[in-house]
Amino acid sequence: MQRHHIAIAGCGPAGLATALLLHRDGHHVTLFERFDAPRPVGSGLMIQPTGLAVLRQLGLADALLDHGARIDRLHGEAGSSGRVVLDVRYAALGRRAGFGVGVHRATLFALLHDAVLTAGIGIETGCAVTGSEMAADDRRFLLLERGRRVGPFDLVVDALGTRTPLAPPCGRALAYGALWGTFDWPADAGLDPGALEQRYRRASVMVGVLPVGRVPGARRRQAALFWSLRADRLAAWQAAGLDAWKAEVSALWPATAHLLDQIGSPDQLSFARYAHRTLPIPAETGMIHIGDAWHSASPQLGQGANMALLDAYALTLGLRRSPDVATALGRAIALRRRHVRLYQALTALFTPVYQSDSRALPFVRDRIVGPLSKLWPATRIQAAMVSGLIGNPLARLEL
Ligand SMILES: Cc1cc2nc3c(=O)[nH]c(=O)nc-3n(C[C@H](O)[C@H](O)[C@H](O)COP(=O)(O)OP(=O)(O)OC[C@H]3O[C@@H](n4cnc5c(N)ncnc54)[C@H](O)[C@@H]3O)c2cc1C
Repeated sequence: MQRHHIAIAGCGPAGLATALLLHRDGHHVTLFERFDAPRPVGSGLMIQPTGLAVLRQLGLADALLDHGARIDRLHGEAGSSGRVVLDVRYAALGRRAGFGVGVHRATLFALLHDAVLTAGIGIETGCAVTGSEMAADDRRFLLLERGRRVGPFDLVVDALGTRTPLAPPCGRALAYGALWGTFDWPADAGLDPGALEQRYRRASVMVGVLPVGRVPGARRRQAALFWSLRADRLAAWQAAGLDAWKAEVSALWPATAHLLDQIGSPDQLSFARYAHRTLPIPAETGMIHIGDAWHSASPQLGQGANMALLDAYALTLGLRRSPDVATALGRAIALRRRHVRLYQALTALFTPVYQSDSRALPFVRDRIVGPLSKLWPATRIQAAMVSGLIGNPLARLEL
């Protein structure tokens, strides 16, 4: 196998996991990150059996399980009626069943970042990437702020997330996003520590709670609270004040009261706007786009970080099994393309059922799809979908 000089742009899950995997294979890897100290942005996320399989390869799965919260089911109720409209249990997969892990983003980041530092992989921080440029051969330079140019590299890995400057803009921003915050787990509130729970009113109102375990170094278990909100209603939400919002949330789901009590300022919540975008061609000469830089979607199915980890693993296999970089990129994309297309389509299909102004979709969800989904084989299909296993992505990667 050839050893390459590789620049990895971005210290999110995709970039950090790629750096670890490629360093382990003997490539010379350097990470570039815009923050002065790499840090995670955001609140909680779900690691699925797919992402866990990659973390296991990296020797980080046990540490993730130690810190995170094991999630065995996803549960959603239509607020006022108490009707169960989402009931997904990982156990429905039978022998193949796994589980999800709710984690604070900081936990996933800390595990990957510490492993990168321990491996002695170089990270250049405070470097905002602005573009890339071809060298005379098939290698590529990375362009940084203030006119700096580094390289050339045999390969540039774009792991800069959904707003990457290394790829042309595509896709669309969604009308809805959500407010997210992380708070101490309210032990006596009657919330299930093994479930991602949500309450809905139609598709325009949703509150959810995800147990996220403990961030490294902390003693207390935590929960991520999220509240669906249209981006163009953010200003109105701020103007209405916290008390009005808290009253609305606790009326919809009284068990959230102990979480709401911990919120004294709107600054404890951050707004994430969602977008759906998929690059049609995720590679060019000497460069590949992975993770959110290739494909991003609303977190309705909770797959983004998991797909980023799978992309990292596919790139590693591609390089391991190919005589040159161009062939490796083609192989890596071939290993992932079908799964990416499938989950981008599924997420686009399901997002409006839970986040939109439609009245028809939630009606069908609550009265028809919800009850049917509790019957076999729908139980099994839903569990496979949430696990990230539709399309058999692990078999393709021999994981
Ligand atoms: C609210 C919310 C909830 C989510 N929940 C889930 C979930 O439950 N499960 C799940 O799997 N996924 C979830 N996701 C999606 C998941 O967070 C992303 O898919 C995942 O973080 C993508 O990883 P990435 O490494 O590709 O990109 P990112 O995590 O976006 O990392 C990109 C990195 O590049 C750096 N960077 C960006 N631009 C530049 C630049 N110009 N120069 C240098 N550095 C730069 C950033 O600072 C960052 O470190 C959620 C997303 C959101 C917004």
